[in-house]
Amino acid sequence: MKADPNTMPHPDLIAHHRQTCRDIIRLAPGIWTAVGYAAANVHLIDGSRTATIIDTTESTEAAANVLAEFRKLTDKPVGRIIYTHSHRDHISGASVFTDGSVPIIAGHLFSSDLVGVNESRISANKALDRRTQAQFGIGLTDEERISLGCGPGDRPMKGLGAGHIEPTERIAKDKVVDLDGVAAKLILSPGETPDHMVVWLPEQGILFCGDNWYHAFPNLYAIRGTPYRDFATWAQSLGQLASLQSEVLSPGHTRPVFGAAAVQEVLTTTRAAILHVMRATADGMDEGLSVDDIAASISLPEALASKPWLKELYGKLSWSVRAFAAGTLGWYDGNPTHLGTISSIDRARHMAHLAGGATALMEAAVVAEDLEWRLELCDHLMALGKPVQELKAETLVQLAESEINATARNTYLWEANRLRKAVQ
Ligand SMILES: [Zn+2]
Repeated sequence: MKADPNTMPHPDLIAHHRQTCRDIIRLAPGIWTAVGYAAANVHLIDGSRTATIIDTTESTEAAANVLAEFRKLTDKPVGRIIYTHSHRDHISGASVFTDGSVPIIAGHLFSSDLVGVNESRISANKALDRRTQAQFGIGLTDEERISLGCGPGDRPMKGLGAGHIEPTERIAKDKVVDLDGVAAKLILSPGETPDHMVVWLPEQGILFCGDNWYHAFPNLYAIRGTPYRDFATWAQSLGQLASLQSEVLSPGHTRPVFGAAAVQEVLTTTRAAILHVMRATADGMDEGLSVDDIAASISLPEALASKPWLKELYGKLSWSVRAFAAGTLGWYDGNPTHLGTISSIDRARHMAHLAGGATALMEAAVVAEDLEWRLELCDHLMALGKPVQELKAETLVQLAESEINATARNTYLWEANRLRKAVQ
């Protein structure tokens, strides 16, 4: 399905993805990171008799492309695989690298619950499935779909999710290990997920940080639907990672950072950005502001906003405000108006009455210049059974074109397609 042949990504997104073209980047002798072959990176550490693979991409096709490149660098068999965390874009190509006879190592909180829907408990599995497809643009064309670290038309999807192998070793506390001649420390580092485990090579000064850092504002809330990602814990982990004073930082998405000063800067400013959102949200709530108003006005101080790695290409400040408010005080925002239960259809009826009828409301929606407001009016009209699916779809496509956030863009386009399919 295709949203619109003329839907161009925002120039900032295009520029960002020019930096993540396929590349095998040498970090040190015998140590490489494959960037741009999939949504997530793969790392290779060549040991004396075997190789270590860190993370495995989201599809067997992407993993096979990476392995073909790695085979030009070493012919040693893969001796172990390490997962930095359980998001499926990191764990779904393992079977390409091993037949399953080698150790698969992860943190002790590694959870397949995060991988997809869970049929064994009461949860909104259909909603999660739909929203996951929307966030990642599953079903959009290759040209339309954009992921962090993998640009339009550059994400092999064959064997999506097909090559996962469950961990055979779960690390319960930080552990020094020998990666066949390469000394490493596995460090539990809760951040984007509670189960994160990073890999630190002290002799080379290389840190593989998983998704606790990448070239984008951190995804403190994923719109596909995630439990609260503990902001304070993520910030604390970034402080601990900075204290390692690494020379090279190789993330789970986007290109590595070289040089101790540069690594310090990206880690400490990202930590500062998270703390800023926490402080601004808490202060706003203390002052009695609504979460809507805090979300609408939040910005980073100029010293942080000017950093290219804090652009909202993946996480978003306004979503983070809402996530922090809900994660700390729950859904109630302190305004007793919101303790009630006006249904969307009743609200729509009231709005239509105020507008002078549903036809007048429709006319207002058609001419509304504020795209987000037009969407709200469309929702009222749809609640009243009015055929405005195409108007809402067009509006979503317009929003997608001006959107720098990859997951918001995918979602706008995906939902536009869904509306158009519904009226066919
Ligand atoms: Zn990831």
